[in-house]
Amino acid sequence: MGYVDEIIERAIAKNPGEPEFIQAVKEVLTSLRPVVDANEDLYRKEALLERLIEPDRQFKFRVPWVDDKGQVQVNVGYRVQFNNSIGPYKGGLRLHPSVNIGIIKFLGFEQIFKNSLTSLPIGGGKGGSDFDPKGKSDREVMAFCQSFMTELCKYIGADVDVPAGDIGTGAREIGYMYGQYKRIRGMYEGVLTGKGLSYGGSLVRTEATGYGLLYLTDEMLKCNGIDIAGKTVCISGSGNVAIYATQKAQQLGAKVVTLSDSTGWVYDPDGIDLDAIKEIKEVKRARLTEYRNYRPNSEYYEGRGVWTVKCDIALPCATQNELSLEDAKVLVANGCKAVAEGANMPTTLEATEYLQENGVLFAPGKAANAGGVATSALEMSQNSERLSWSFEEVDAKLKSIMVNIFHNMDDASKRYGFEGNYVVGANIAGFEKVASAMIAQGVC
Ligand code: NDP
Repeated sequence: MGYVDEIIERAIAKNPGEPEFIQAVKEVLTSLRPVVDANEDLYRKEALLERLIEPDRQFKFRVPWVDDKGQVQVNVGYRVQFNNSIGPYKGGLRLHPSVNIGIIKFLGFEQIFKNSLTSLPIGGGKGGSDFDPKGKSDREVMAFCQSFMTELCKYIGADVDVPAGDIGTGAREIGYMYGQYKRIRGMYEGVLTGKGLSYGGSLVRTEATGYGLLYLTDEMLKCNGIDIAGKTVCISGSGNVAIYATQKAQQLGAKVVTLSDSTGWVYDPDGIDLDAIKEIKEVKRARLTEYRNYRPNSEYYEGRGVWTVKCDIALPCATQNELSLEDAKVLVANGCKAVAEGANMPTTLEATEYLQENGVLFAPGKAANAGGVATSALEMSQNSERLSWSFEEVDAKLKSIMVNIFHNMDDASKRYGFEGNYVVGANIAGFEKVASAMIAQGVC
């Protein structure tokens, strides 16, 4: 049995009940086969893959807080510090009822390669809780965030582990968590990113993942002879990534016709009205059902269905495993030319393979959505320097990072004879740097 297959079997045996983590290990290791086969003796001797799939450490803790009725509630908090060979652990905090250790491990594992791909000095980590901020008052969210940080603050630090936002963790949650960290540790340091602009946040961080997704997609299309202007785009989700992906797509001359949330989705044949979406989602924190009040010509459907709409470009920006093989078949039948993942692992393995086999350009999340973490790393640099860069300066750096990521993964795919397979390219380009750092640092 080859080294990669042995390690996949080991991952399955040692991580029961963690299907998302196994899925991520399988996807990454399978695509690393060319580089692992070429270095098998060295990597086996170093137990490199065994070390890579085992987090450095993981924390699970109780998060008690009091709701508005005076009732004590208890949630579970997690932080997985996966790999710090190239920099302090870095990765978001997800607040969603579906959160469990397997999901946090899958996200932390993917984060290692994504962070490496940015070319910035950041390692891989992830955390979160099964707390659901939806429907909670500001006071309840603050009570949860303070309790969560009371425990988390023991494990993080500006040079140790720097968490950020993710699903359910936006500017409000980061603010409450930062306040509690400062209060307990008595330190004003860049321990979280995604902070408000008045206390150390970076311009462009809010827009970064969505903008970055479009910068990379645009470069991928250009290099394959396609102009994004005038193209029809389907986007799923209506959170941070989806909103700013929509904005940049529109700025680049494309027409975005769909958005979704966990209840339903909208189709707007005239193009999504971004101001309406921002008001519904960012100001009112309401459901997409409201969109028809702003745009009577649009259509609202309950459930899933974004990928049934004919489009040139599909950008899944909601959550994991939201684009299935059946969805991929419909996209191909409808002439879709490119899929780029704004969310983490939104496309199932079978769907990814089907899209690639049918000539659809496919940019995996760890490359396509790396703009968020890249800008977080720029926020860390600004905090260390005690400086704030202008919007234009950060945006220009973000664009250049995303264009570089595309070319790094494109070059890696060509080097190993997989031209055009950006999944293989992204994983190899991210892995090579981490592998070399791990070997250089000895057995640890
Ligand atoms: P938000 O919480 O802002 O938005 C998430 C969106 O996805 C919401 O519209 C939400 O709908 C929808 N959604 C969530 N879960 C489900 C589900 N199970 N089924 C259908 N829809 C769902 O999160 P972000 O926009 O920040 O993150 C979206 C994705 O992008 C995640 O995979 C995240 O890990 C990834 N990502 C985010 C980065 C960032 O900088 N924000 C960076 C890199 C990756 P509803 O409101 O109804 O729950």
